[in-house]
Parts: sequence; structure tokens; C-alpha cells
Amino acid sequence: MQQLRWHALLEQWVVVSTHRQDRPQMPSNWCPFDPGSGRVPDNYEVYLYPNDFPAFSPDTEPFHPEAGLFAETGARGACDVVLYSPEHTLPPSKLTVDRWRQIVDLWAERTQQLAQNPEIAFVAAFENCGEAVGVTMPHPHGQIYAMPFVPPNVRKEIASAKQYASTNGGGCLFCRLLEEELKDGSRVVAADDHFAAFVPYAARFPAEITLYPRRHARTLLDLSREEKSSLANLLSTVRRKYDNLYGFLMPLMMPVKQAPLREPDSPYHFHVQFLPLQRSATKLKYLATIETGFGTFLADTSPENMAENLRRSEPVTTF
Ligand SMILES: [Zn+2]
Ligand SMILES: [Zn+2]
Repeated sequence: MQQLRWHALLEQWVVVSTHRQDRPQMPSNWCPFDPGSGRVPDNYEVYLYPNDFPAFSPDTEPFHPEAGLFAETGARGACDVVLYSPEHTLPPSKLTVDRWRQIVDLWAERTQQLAQNPEIAFVAAFENCGEAVGVTMPHPHGQIYAMPFVPPNVRKEIASAKQYASTNGGGCLFCRLLEEELKDGSRVVAADDHFAAFVPYAARFPAEITLYPRRHARTLLDLSREEKSSLANLLSTVRRKYDNLYGFLMPLMMPVKQAPLREPDSPYHFHVQFLPLQRSATKLKYLATIETGFGTFLADTSPENMAENLRRSEPVTTF
């Protein structure tokens, strides 16, 4: 079964994708992402690999949402794996800035391709990293989901940005938040000419960081070459800081968030979030009842202290 079911109370789609349960147990000494596996080129640096067990697929029913409390429709879309390196055990913090730039270019190229398909409403690039996030495959990789709808967190951010613009002469909420963060400085972790990384004022995850372009840009496709290089630079900086914070691979989720493909009027500002799950060197953050059942996050660390710790973590950056 592969379909979308409408959650009438939360007004969001749930992907029911039972074939994902059938994912085979891989032999422990074999990895499909390694050169020589027969599944990837024998030589590559970064590579887009079609997900073998996609949650969204071009081979399923089309997305035709109908009204109703028990609405269902097809999970039409596409899912790719983004291979960051041919080296099986290389942690993302060891990728060079040039390699991150290739990854950014791949995200942008795939976004451009998917934008040609009128059935795709939204392109979600992301990474799950670490066993705490359920990733058992050490091979460095991220993913891209092409979705037929705009996911609820982005929808909510657009609604907030619309509301802000309507009462602030059309200004961008994200640009304003960045301006205030840079002015205050206490939560800024790293910055260069085109991007800035800071712990959000109301961070929900321990050591959470958001990465904004300084210039107003809505999608990956709006970024200049210099901005893409700057993004690669800060992706590398943030990942090195994370892995040096406790001296091991930081388990995290990394959504790359851009404006919906077919809504030129929806206010949005491209950004990357890092949502780590490690709240100290020995403790994990669990999304428990108050977070998952009620949607209210408890933060165990002060955003300002965490920003200070991250500034001091290697590589030390000045801004
Ligand atoms: Zn591998
Ligand atoms: Zn903006």
C-alpha cells in the first residue's frame, strides 16, 4: 500500500507506505553506495541515487486530493539518495568545502529538474545522521523528497511570514529575524560575507542552528555562485563544530528549506536547519509526550550558552 491519508484534525497528509517495511536486511559487509557494488558508478564524487524504497513515487496513483474526513490520494513524487562521497565511513564533518559545494550544486540541479514536473509542489532536501535518528548505514548521504503538496511546517512558516508582511509594509520576517540576530550577536555561531549561522532565540532542539543567506533569496535556484560557495563553507564549519563539541558524530536532522515551486507570491526565505538530538556528551534528547503529543518543546539548554559553546568549538570562527 502506498497512499496519502488526510489527518482531518491536524490538516496534514500522512504517507502510508507499507512497502518500506520490506526493506531487506543488507549483508553487513556490503553497501550499495560503494564503488564496485554494481549499483553506483565505479568512480564518483557525489551521486544522485534513486531511492529503492521511495515514500513518494512516480509509479503510484496521481495526487488528486478530495475533500472529506477520510480522504486519500496517491503519493505521487520522487525520492532520491544524495551520496556525499564514495568513502563508506567518512563522517560529513570530514567532507571538504569543495565537496559540500558539489552537494549544494546537486541539490540545486535536482530542484531545477523537478521544477519542470507540474506534479511536484515542493522539493525537500535533507539529511538524517546518526543511529539516534535511526540511520544504521554509516555511508555519508542525504536525501531529496519531491512532494505533491507543501509540507505543514513550511505552510505554517509562510502563514507567519504573510501575517508579518501584512503588518510591516511587506517586509520579510526571516530577513528581520536575521537582522536582529546579527545586531544582538549573542546567538551567532559563525558567519561570512553571504551566510550567517545562529542558534534561534527559541531553539527547540539542543544546539539547534539555522543558516540564512544574508540577501533575501527564496530557493536554492536564487543563490549566486558566491552564495553557494558561502553556503558550502558554513555547512562545513557547522558540521565540524558539531562533531568537535562532544568529540563524536553529532546525531542530527538537517532540513534544507526552500519556497514551494509553484507559489511565487508565498513569502519565504531559503534556510538550512540543523536539529541535533544530543543534549550533552552522554544524554540524548527524546521527543517525548509533551513534544510529540502536545507539540510543545522543552529545551534543556540555554540558546545563548549553547551558542557560546559552539563558537568555541573548532573550527573557531570570528565574525
Ligand atoms: Zn558504503
Ligand atoms: Zn528574506
